[in-house]
Amino acid sequence: MEIGVLLNADSAEADELVALAQVAEDNGIGIAVVTGNRHADAWVVATWITGVTDRIRVSVPPRDEPFDPAGADSAVPAVLAKAVATLAALAPERTLPPGARWTVVDADADADAGSVRDAAGAGIPVVPVHTAGDVTRLRPLVAAPEPEAPAGRPHRSALALAQRMPGIAYDAVPAGLAARAVEPGDPEHRAVASTYLRGGNPGLVLRPRTVAEVADAIAFARDHRDIPFGVRSAGHGISGRSTSRGGLVISVGAMDSLEVLDRSRRLVRIGPGRTWKRVAQSLVSHGWALGSGDYGGVGVGGLATAGGIGLLSRKHGLTIDRLRAVELVLADGTPVRASDTENPDVFWAVRGAGANFGIATAFEFETSVVGQVGWAQLTLVSTDIEESLYRYGQIASEAPTDTTVFLVTGRARQGQWVVSLFAVVDHPDPDTVIARLTPFLDLGQLARQQVVMTAYPGVMANAVDIGPDGQQGFGEPVSRSAFIPELTRQFAHEAAELLSSDLVYFFELRAMGGAITEVPSDAMAFSHRSPLFQATAMSSSDDLLSAEWDRLRPHFDGLYLSFETDRRPERLLDAFPGPVLERLRRLKAEYDPTNLFRDNFTIPPAELPVSTMAGGEQTFETEKAA
Ligand SMILES: Cc1cc2nc3c(=O)[nH]c(=O)nc-3n(C[C@H](O)[C@H](O)[C@H](O)COP(=O)(O)OP(=O)(O)OC[C@H]3O[C@@H](n4cnc5c(N)ncnc54)[C@H](O)[C@@H]3O)c2cc1C
Repeated sequence: MEIGVLLNADSAEADELVALAQVAEDNGIGIAVVTGNRHADAWVVATWITGVTDRIRVSVPPRDEPFDPAGADSAVPAVLAKAVATLAALAPERTLPPGARWTVVDADADADAGSVRDAAGAGIPVVPVHTAGDVTRLRPLVAAPEPEAPAGRPHRSALALAQRMPGIAYDAVPAGLAARAVEPGDPEHRAVASTYLRGGNPGLVLRPRTVAEVADAIAFARDHRDIPFGVRSAGHGISGRSTSRGGLVISVGAMDSLEVLDRSRRLVRIGPGRTWKRVAQSLVSHGWALGSGDYGGVGVGGLATAGGIGLLSRKHGLTIDRLRAVELVLADGTPVRASDTENPDVFWAVRGAGANFGIATAFEFETSVVGQVGWAQLTLVSTDIEESLYRYGQIASEAPTDTTVFLVTGRARQGQWVVSLFAVVDHPDPDTVIARLTPFLDLGQLARQQVVMTAYPGVMANAVDIGPDGQQGFGEPVSRSAFIPELTRQFAHEAAELLSSDLVYFFELRAMGGAITEVPSDAMAFSHRSPLFQATAMSSSDDLLSAEWDRLRPHFDGLYLSFETDRRPERLLDAFPGPVLERLRRLKAEYDPTNLFRDNFTIPPAELPVSTMAGGEQTFETEKAA
């Protein structure tokens, strides 16, 4: 059985502790926890132990008592934390994982493995030792076998089990999901912990592969209302929190199939876990494409439940405009199919607010015929960003609808802004492509240009596939979104002021209009049909960005929730204007009355009092919806 020894630097010299650790390793003991500081510094002792042993893991617990700057025995907490992190980085296999729990157990000579395990609870038993004899008498305990895993469940070492997090009934994971479930102590955990932009440390990741397993996973989520809960397809969420610290994630990434349902109608069925890069690759041989976004790594599940503003949007509309049906598992575990004729209310809600209504397990899309397109990536340098933004606004909105151009800029460098333009001209004739792009060269001094004729997968090829190491995000994005009805001179002026402040490192204007405007604004939960642009700003300071963005609000008309991280309640009304939100809240009360799905712009069910809102992060004043 996995067992540790407790070495106390308050009562022994450093060399005695190191010798005890060596004896422990020789006797098969896996962990040495070093405490105290009187005779020696615990962390230095622990580091020395790793140097003179081969396998034993070390740990130095944070000290309970407050730091005493005058006390010779007191370790500066920040210094200790840095020391712990440094050794963990240098020798990850030789330190106890940060989340691993252990319990001090006074095991006497007669102790048996069962009683020691019981005394340790969910942690690893760690026994105080003072002499080599104390260590060798633990040998029978070390030799005791680990308990068998329940039938059908993977075996996990005591060290892995000690990293389980509170509040999760791990042994209650339904049998069909248990084999693929990932816990903090599992080798795969690092690969599922982060998303593209966020760091995380989820307590449990369930990875269903079938609709029935999704229903089982949802039932497990219903039994775990007190921990964070997120849904993941490909992990590119900005507004949605598809990872957490200590929470539950249901990842449908493995449900990533694509099949052609009806060639004559160009109808395809796609799983939520497929990335748009892979969708494009699968459709190209048919001469079809689905407008998605501007980045191939984004998942179908997150994008097709929110909108999908992309580089084909002015010609072919939003991604959700091509959706003909969706299969969804609701909060009570019921699988439903929604379309214009089946559960039309759900179909209306999913196209814009899908994350609030269930877990989508398949989408049916009518694809577009798309051949060779002009794909341009231009870099210009501007010394007058106000003028560049304003001119971009005019040219991009007046361009024929086969032309969709996104502008990206950020902080100035020595009075100059680098302006990147990403453009798709859905036209097979290279001369027409050049003609469409030429007006944009006025926006600054051209520094770099790449224009190619390519099929749509060439546009989506900008992302690497998610590899075995998973996503590696480590932060918490700070992003603001706004729809802009018209890019006026005054907006360009104020946006230029914002860009001169150094606050925003990423600023994007996406041209809309065209086919997006052809769908009535009440046709689905995404209702922003008339704005000509979508603006996104990213910063490292949430508060400062809020203040600056609020100043620009007179120019805004709503927001695109996928690019928004501001969780102030009024943002919900920006994403879903009054009557839309009212309808969504009524539907939420019908389909998810306890607000199980809450990781992405929580819509309060109409009948749920604000005080009972899960997560407590978002409150909502009903009168604002009136
Ligand atoms: C680099 C980058 C580029 C982007 N480009 C574009 C773009 O061009 N156009 C655009 O419109 N958006 C774009 N986005 C935003 C993107 O569409 C959303 O963040 C989307 O939610 C990501 O989907 P995902 O499945 O990859 O993310 P995930 O992190 O897996 O999911 C995000 C959220 O979506 C919900 N969700 C995920 N899967 C499901 C499901 N199966 N059923 C129900 N709800 C689900 C959950 O609330 C989840 O938290 C971009 C994001 C990034 C990071």
